[in-house]
Amino acid sequence: MNEFIDLIKEREIGKCLENVSLKNFTSYKVGGKARCIVYPKDTKKLIELLRLCKNRNVKYKVLGNGSNTLFSDKDYDGIIIKLDEFNKISMINDTTIKVGAGYSLMKLALFATKKSLSGLEFACGIPGTVGGAVYMNAGAYKSDMGYIVKKVKVLTPNYTVINMTNAELNFHYRSSFFQTHPNYICLEATIGLKKGNREEMMAINQDRKERRQSTQPLEYPSAGSVFRNPDGNFAGKMIEDLGLKGLTKGGAQVSEKHANFVINLGNASANDIKELIMFVHDTVLEKYDVDLKIEQEFVNWD
Ligand SMILES: Cc1cc2nc3c(=O)[nH]c(=O)nc-3n(C[C@H](O)[C@H](O)[C@H](O)COP(=O)(O)OP(=O)(O)OC[C@H]3O[C@@H](n4cnc5c(N)ncnc54)[C@H](O)[C@@H]3O)c2cc1C
Repeated sequence: MNEFIDLIKEREIGKCLENVSLKNFTSYKVGGKARCIVYPKDTKKLIELLRLCKNRNVKYKVLGNGSNTLFSDKDYDGIIIKLDEFNKISMINDTTIKVGAGYSLMKLALFATKKSLSGLEFACGIPGTVGGAVYMNAGAYKSDMGYIVKKVKVLTPNYTVINMTNAELNFHYRSSFFQTHPNYICLEATIGLKKGNREEMMAINQDRKERRQSTQPLEYPSAGSVFRNPDGNFAGKMIEDLGLKGLTKGGAQVSEKHANFVINLGNASANDIKELIMFVHDTVLEKYDVDLKIEQEFVNWD
C-alpha cells in the first residue's frame, strides 16, 4: 500500500490524506482509519486513479459527505475517493442548473432559492453531496431527486463518460440505478427547476428547518432515518409503538426525539450502532412480521 500511495503522489492525482480517522468524514462520527483519502483534481485524474486501483487490486469507495454511511470500526485498507474538486455550478438557462457531484446539496438548495427557482425546497435539510443524493435518490416532503434531475454525467466501469437521462436512472423511493451499479460514478447532475417566489420559498425553508429541529435529534451525530418506510406505514411510528425509543447499546441510542434515528451519544462505536440497528430491525420483524429495509449503507464490515 505504501508503494501505491507513493504512486498516487507521483502522478499528482490530487490531495492525498493518509491514515485519517473516518470519524471526521461521516455524520455518525464513528469508523476506523482510512489508509488514504484522495481528492482527484478532475475526471482525467479520477480515471487514472481508478485504473491504478484496478491494476494493483486495491479496493476503493467513493464517499460524499458520509451522511448515509456506517463504516465499521476496522481500518479501511484501501482508497476513499472524495469528489470535492467536482464542485462547479452554473446556470444552463433560466431554470436549469449544472452542478458537480461534490457540491453540497444544502448549498445547492440555497443557490436555487436565491435565484427564485423552485423544486429543491425538500433538500434544504439534507446534509449530503449532489452525488450522494443522486445515488440515494434523497428526498423529503413527498419530493426527491427523481423529480428534478434531468440527466447525469456518469463515469462507467469502462472509463467512458456518458450522459444518463432521468428515465435511465430508474429513480424510486430512496433508490436509483447507482445502487445496483456501484462501479458507476456520478460526476455531475443537470437539475431542472421552475420559476418560483423567493419569499414564499424562504418561508417554506424556514418552516421546514424549524420542523426538523423540533422533531429530529440534530444535536447528536446520526445518519438521518435508519429505515425506509414500509408501504402504508412509518418505520418511526412502528419503532416508537414497540417502546424502543431511548433504548441504548453502548454509546448508541434509539433517539428519544425520533424513533427512526439512531444517535451517537458521544462515545459510540460503529459496532454499537450496527447492533442497535439490527436489534430494532429484528424486533420489528418479530412483532409485526415486517422486514424493514435499512436506508443507510454499511461499509467495510465482514
Ligand atoms: C441529520 C440528517 C438528516 C437527513 N435527512 C434526510 C432526508 O430528509 N432525506 C434523505 O433522503 N436523506 C436524509 N439524510 C441522509 C443523507 O443525508 C442522504 O442520504 C444523502 O443523500 C447522502 O449523501 P452523502 O453525500 O452524504 O452520501 P454518502 O453517505 O457519502 O454516500 C452514500 C452512498 O452514495 C455513494 N456515492 C456518493 N457520491 C457518489 C457519486 N458521486 N457517485 C456514485 N456514488 C456516490 C457512496 O459510495 C455511498 O454508497 C439525512 C442525514 C442526516 C445526518
